[in-house]
Amino acid sequence: MSIKNLGEDRTVEFWMGLRLPIPKGMKIPACGACGDMYFSEEILEAMVRAFTPAYLRHLNAVVQEVRVAHGIDVDRVARACCMRERNLVRMLDGTETMGQQTRVLLEVLARSPGEMARLLEDRPWAPLG
Ligand SMILES: [Zn+2]
Repeated sequence: MSIKNLGEDRTVEFWMGLRLPIPKGMKIPACGACGDMYFSEEILEAMVRAFTPAYLRHLNAVVQEVRVAHGIDVDRVARACCMRERNLVRMLDGTETMGQQTRVLLEVLARSPGEMARLLEDRPWAPLG
């Protein structure tokens, strides 16, 4: 988990590209002068617990989006992301951690139907120039 760019709105970049609000009622020590918040190990663990359900819903929604757009099963999604089906299944239920690069890849593929179709159909790259 990385913490950067904390703003007045009390959000935290839970994982790269995934900014979430700090749960209401969660007390975070802050510098009296500049307001910078300090995240202890204990607080970070509590935040991971608080965020995990929403994070897993997000991962499942992204995979579902790819599946519906291309009419494919979880195994095919996993292979398009260079993963085994059982690993992806475990990532979707939270028993295995998905790497940030894989999550970003999935998110981008979910929004790039043309490129995902090229991958699925094993078509060559479009000629450059
Ligand atoms: Zn300060």
